[in-house]
Amino acid sequence: MNVPFVDFREQYHAIKDKIDAGLKKVFEDGSFILGPQEKAFEGDFARYCNAPYAVGVNSGTDALYLALQAIDIGPGDEVILPSFTFIATALCVSCTGARPVFVDVEEQTCNIDPARFQAAVTEKTKAVIPVHIYGQPADMNEINAIAKKHNITVIEDACQAHGSTYNGKKAGSLGDIACFSFYPTKSLGAFGDGGMVVTSNKNVYEKVLMLRDYGRTGRYDHKIKGHNSRLDTVQAVVLAAKLPLLDQWNKMRNDVALHYGKLLKNTEGVVTPILKKDRTHVYQTYAVRLQNRDKICDAMKTKGIGVLIHYPIPLHLQEAYADLGYQRGDFPVSEKIAREILSLPMFPHMKKDQVEYVCENLKGLVISHQSSAIS
Ligand SMILES: *Cc1c(COP(=O)(O)O)cnc(C)c1O
Repeated sequence: MNVPFVDFREQYHAIKDKIDAGLKKVFEDGSFILGPQEKAFEGDFARYCNAPYAVGVNSGTDALYLALQAIDIGPGDEVILPSFTFIATALCVSCTGARPVFVDVEEQTCNIDPARFQAAVTEKTKAVIPVHIYGQPADMNEINAIAKKHNITVIEDACQAHGSTYNGKKAGSLGDIACFSFYPTKSLGAFGDGGMVVTSNKNVYEKVLMLRDYGRTGRYDHKIKGHNSRLDTVQAVVLAAKLPLLDQWNKMRNDVALHYGKLLKNTEGVVTPILKKDRTHVYQTYAVRLQNRDKICDAMKTKGIGVLIHYPIPLHLQEAYADLGYQRGDFPVSEKIAREILSLPMFPHMKKDQVEYVCENLKGLVISHQSSAIS
């Protein structure tokens, strides 16, 4: 059997007619840039997040970058973020000229550790970017309380968490500003790049509207120095067709995760994801932790199973961030997770026998690597 890491064909078939009709209209009207369908999708997505404002942009990376610029982050400022995340969370900080300050994560959720965040705050700290890694929200009550005490803006990196909740509240409405990616493999994915800034702050909203569109207020009136970072109308059509099905697809991801959990339960040497009581997960990624991860990862591939590692190198050990002067050993939890984590195939329409095939092989490999380690 072959089990791909993701397979979105069934998702596409469910919305094909809607997309075809929507695209035909865009092509005939020629409303490619900031067309009415793009504006409508911003409204749909803001409502989905229970937030007042949303602005469509080019990517999740740009969403983060424009959010930071909207609150005037720049050289001399510090922004705190977890050392265990995708590098885009840090790159957007570097792009503003501010310094990314890494902190370690919690072993159970792989999310930023609020105590480490608190300990890293200085006079220069202007913002914190909790990442809802794999689709489970970070500990937002703790993070918001610390941020409030020190007058720090909270920017959610919700790029993996479309639809997940914390104490009943949706990702996107858990901090001051939230950033989403619509990269094709995200749980709400476009047919290309895309992103969204979501906020309840009207000033931020108005500034991001300008920033994404050359800083302009009128056709040739430019109030600030902006960018060209808009969500294409074509992508908005695709996303608007998918959004009504997102909760159903997230439920299907949860069913797959439940099945994985049942089959892998009590398997010595396999740690399955831990879901905190006050949260819901969307399983953008289903990541287990293993000893002998690299060997098992290679062997799974030879069995026809698509597995990936999110992420093998924590940010403080990336060559791109050598200039910050971090050392191996600075963030031991992040380093341990990076050594042990393995992402298993996960997509809404994954079949039960596919999950079973993955688990059978994984269990077999874990056992054989344990006995080979002993002998
Ligand atoms: C995907 C992702 C991003 C970047 O989004 P792009 O749309 O690819 O630019 C940022 N942060 C996290 C946690 C992500 O998973």
